[in-house]
Amino acid sequence: MNDIDKLIQIMGRLPGLGPRSARRAVLHLLKKRETLLHPLIESLGDVAAHVKTCGICGNLDAADPCAICRDAGRDTSQLCVVADVGDLWALERIGTFKGRYQVLGGVLSALDGIGPEQLAIAPLLRRLEGGEVKEVILALGATVDGQTTGHYLADRLQPMGVAVSRLAHGVPVGGELDYLDDGTLIQALKARQKL
Ligand code: ZN
Repeated sequence: MNDIDKLIQIMGRLPGLGPRSARRAVLHLLKKRETLLHPLIESLGDVAAHVKTCGICGNLDAADPCAICRDAGRDTSQLCVVADVGDLWALERIGTFKGRYQVLGGVLSALDGIGPEQLAIAPLLRRLEGGEVKEVILALGATVDGQTTGHYLADRLQPMGVAVSRLAHGVPVGGELDYLDDGTLIQALKARQKL
């Protein structure tokens, strides 16, 4: 396989890019070597060298702990639980939530063999032991697996004396948070329901 085909094949594995889009993207990069290809190479190198997983919340950032966990201005009484870093980024994009996060790394799924041990549930429970967190907001989307995970977590968290809420309905079924427009997401957070 030649170099160009190899690049097309790799790019085609990115979410949202099939083989056709990957070919177009690669051609574009090759035509814009100075303004796009070289800056992209540099940027990919930087990200590969510096980005780490936050040891506290699971976010991806250039520093560990991440900027959110280090920010003393954030409300440590609220903890928002998300399935994926993309969901955390979506909530940060709207800027209304001022607490901290816990990234689970997925949701429970009998079909995919994902149980509680495969998710960051133990670190979540440990973070609640200090008693500083008063409310846990479950932002797990409205898929069946997301709902199952929410119920499971509510059962584990409520005996620990924290208030548990979840995003209001309005989050479309099967929708990941990143696909929501800002208004819907802000509304879902504001109108969150106590469990
Ligand atoms: Zn963090």
